[in-house]
Amino acid sequence: MGRLVMKFGGTSVANIERIGNVARHVKREVDAGHDVAVIVSAMAGKTNELVEWCREDSAMHDAREYDVVVASGEQVTAGLLAIALQTIGVQARSWQGWQIPIKTSDAHASARILGIDGGELVHRFQDRKEVAVIAGFQGINPQTGRITTLGRGGSDTSAVAIAAAIHADRCDIYTDVDGVYTTDPRIVPKARRLERISFEEMLEMASLGAKVLQTRSVEIALLYRVPVRVLSTFDADAGGTLLCDEEDIVEKKPVTGIAYSRDEAKITLLKIPDQPGVAAAIFGPLADSGVNVDMIVQNVSEDGRRTDLTFTVARSELSRALDAIEKAAPQIGYKEISADANVAKVSIIGIGMRAHPGVAQTMFRTLSDKGINIQVISTSEIKVSVLIAEEYVELAVRALHSAYELDTA
Ligand code: ASP
Ligand code: MG
Repeated sequence: MGRLVMKFGGTSVANIERIGNVARHVKREVDAGHDVAVIVSAMAGKTNELVEWCREDSAMHDAREYDVVVASGEQVTAGLLAIALQTIGVQARSWQGWQIPIKTSDAHASARILGIDGGELVHRFQDRKEVAVIAGFQGINPQTGRITTLGRGGSDTSAVAIAAAIHADRCDIYTDVDGVYTTDPRIVPKARRLERISFEEMLEMASLGAKVLQTRSVEIALLYRVPVRVLSTFDADAGGTLLCDEEDIVEKKPVTGIAYSRDEAKITLLKIPDQPGVAAAIFGPLADSGVNVDMIVQNVSEDGRRTDLTFTVARSELSRALDAIEKAAPQIGYKEISADANVAKVSIIGIGMRAHPGVAQTMFRTLSDKGINIQVISTSEIKVSVLIAEEYVELAVRALHSAYELDTA
């Protein structure tokens, strides 16, 4: 007997019949004697529709009202699942973010969870064996009292944060795939499900483009050591993937997984002065406009006076970035600027990399054998990322998957 958080994504609650199926999953755990908190997403496609409505209403809409609109999808599924549970004889009550409350920052549309009081939920487990059905993705800012949302994919974060707050023994993320794969199976049919992945690796995978879990949810899992399992709603016996401590992984291959992201754009500033303060003059205005810069390379100047600098931003932020740079042009003093939105980032990730020399070299050789040019490189202890032309993403991912022997178990 223990305490469990179960999270169900959009496809798992896509219609009333599937919500009934989810209710049966929950009943199974309740019958096994567990205290259960369920976190639900909006029905598949619902959030996209709500986002689109805001955009149609006005391209420059108020983010506070955007949150009011998009948070509604989860409200609907929470109520529907509570009804479905009651119908099959399970005590259940729905909760909106503000009712718990899930306190967040006031960064509307991408708020961060600041704290959750799990007291009342735990009390109800003990008193009435009542299942809590919680709307994912949403919270409340305590200063303004307004509804906030956690960014796309944010229900994962709601689930892991609730698990940490109520000291759950495990957080099960039910989705439409049966776990975390070595890479995207739509690109590499031979991709394999991982039995286990370390928190650190999953964090890199998520932030470098794997879409299974929201990055922030993995950060919280790592911070509070919440055991997270990713498994399929439609085939719960398929095994799933467990996120765990590094020490709990016996076989450490040099590379565990390959991620890619097409949401990339590259900006190059030519002939900037090679002197102190120039990087600050470039990245200051970008930060002020809320643009996140990812990879950066600066060349060595030939004459000691001028050099070139390249950096990447999210493709969706490209025009905002160019705006900020062009406004700061007099302070920066570049001669030319160029932008390229047809780039993508491919990354290899693995804790085994620390102990295996030559891992990056295999990546570079594999790409060069395929005639793929590397534009920018960045590394950390457990990952190597390269920026390449977008048209080569699939070729690169496939070639790397076999080069690191991930095709075979
Ligand atoms: N419904 C929200 C979204 O699509 C949150 C989630 O499903 O995680 O982004
Ligand atoms: Mg998701």
